[in-house]
Amino acid sequence: MRLTWLILALLVTGWAAQAGAQVPVRQPDQQLTGTITRADYQRYRAVPFSVPRGTVRLVVAFDYDQRAQKTVIDLGVEDQHGLRGSSGGNKADFTIGESDATPSYLPGRIEPGRWRLVLAVPNIRPGITARWTARIWYLRAAEAELAAPLVADRGSGWYRGDLHLHSAHSDGTCPSQSGKRVPCPVFKTLETAAERGLDFVAITDHNTTSAQAAIREAQPYFDRLLLIPGREITTFFGHFNIFGVSAPIDYRVTPNGPVSFNAIADRVHALGGLVSINHPALPSGEPCMGCGWAMPGADLARVDAIEVVNGGAALLPGGVEGPLSGRAFWLKALSAQRPVTAIGGSDNHDGAQTAPIAGSVGRPTTVVWADGLTQRAILAGLRAGRVFIDIGGMAESMLDLRVSNGRTTAEMGSILRAATSDQLIAHMTVQAMPGARLDLMAGDAVITSVAIDGARDVDLPIDRQDRPLIVRAVVRAPDGKVILMSNAVTISGANGSDRP
Ligand SMILES: [Zn+2]
Ligand SMILES: [Zn+2]
Repeated sequence: MRLTWLILALLVTGWAAQAGAQVPVRQPDQQLTGTITRADYQRYRAVPFSVPRGTVRLVVAFDYDQRAQKTVIDLGVEDQHGLRGSSGGNKADFTIGESDATPSYLPGRIEPGRWRLVLAVPNIRPGITARWTARIWYLRAAEAELAAPLVADRGSGWYRGDLHLHSAHSDGTCPSQSGKRVPCPVFKTLETAAERGLDFVAITDHNTTSAQAAIREAQPYFDRLLLIPGREITTFFGHFNIFGVSAPIDYRVTPNGPVSFNAIADRVHALGGLVSINHPALPSGEPCMGCGWAMPGADLARVDAIEVVNGGAALLPGGVEGPLSGRAFWLKALSAQRPVTAIGGSDNHDGAQTAPIAGSVGRPTTVVWADGLTQRAILAGLRAGRVFIDIGGMAESMLDLRVSNGRTTAEMGSILRAATSDQLIAHMTVQAMPGARLDLMAGDAVITSVAIDGARDVDLPIDRQDRPLIVRAVVRAPDGKVILMSNAVTISGANGSDRP
């Protein structure tokens, strides 16, 4: 028995060292303290606290002393309706939100009013007084969305991810132990993503947040794979992904009803998230209901990204450049000088599928330049647009593009103001398979095509005459198929009036 306690104590210490990661950096909203003596031995103590209105996530961090004297205080919590979970001595902190909670606790609404910490005392020696402390945070809407990092941040760099994945929480299926197709656990998708070397993923089940609890459970295990809360808002008039938001959002868009695309986008932005239109050029109708983009009253200025390469659509006639890809929709948005980022998403519906074809996890991969591997940094990187799409999901690929007019250099995702007399140079860094070619493009027209054959830095002049100046780059395999696709630098007149 003593050995069991020793092992438990070691486990608790090890976990506590890491578990603090889900605790906000700022000061707690409330701190409760108290003492436990032998009078509490094998008893339960209820410690009331009052949750303020507007709280959508609760975070509690608990600590106590006299552990060397074998003191043990176990932790649980109850709301107005009863117990909401118990973690014994195995977790130093926990969080409960509407869609997810630390394992051991039940997700759900955080009702304002009286809650109680439940302290259980399996052991305290006679004559010992142990002091405990509970720090409590009451998180409101936007703060509640910013997950504390549980993944090792590796600083600024290129990060690779899949932004469109389905699991058992919507229509994702995979073979069961006996070979039946069954709703596929989120874990299978995450395992495949990790095997493929991805740095981040967004599980985007249709219209529901129920995957969030599984993601909360999985994140400490996947400590090299950032799990960004996501959802595919699926309407009769089009599909769009939201990233960085775990709060439930009403998806029931009707042409004149109270729920609209614009209102959802505003809500997502208020919560710090992003909005991306999915597979906009797919036809709608009985083969794929609501799949094409025909959103009533949608304001495209509220769109942060467009899924230019969808894994499912890439398998259709024309592939990633065909009429069913999102490319034309994206170029049209750019031509109106809307800064909108081209991204890819596999739209995978079978997390166990390992065949390296379009639509499997990480095919395509979206590669983002970000300040770090945190939710905040990846979302900021996607918004900024220094991003390329790797259609085949090759770990070492690279395609960066900058355009300079001699005075200023603009990264992908930005607008370069340039006089008509300026000499424009495109600077590209490319890594691809042997025999690959790089096409420097203006909109849909090839400006120059050069052999890459592995890796190269390439500088090429841009002829501005008679071209729509949406400068972008595409890398093709020896068979001519697109393998990498850059974001664009949009060239505008020095006075901003020279629209491309
Ligand atoms: Zn869809
Ligand atoms: Zn989908």
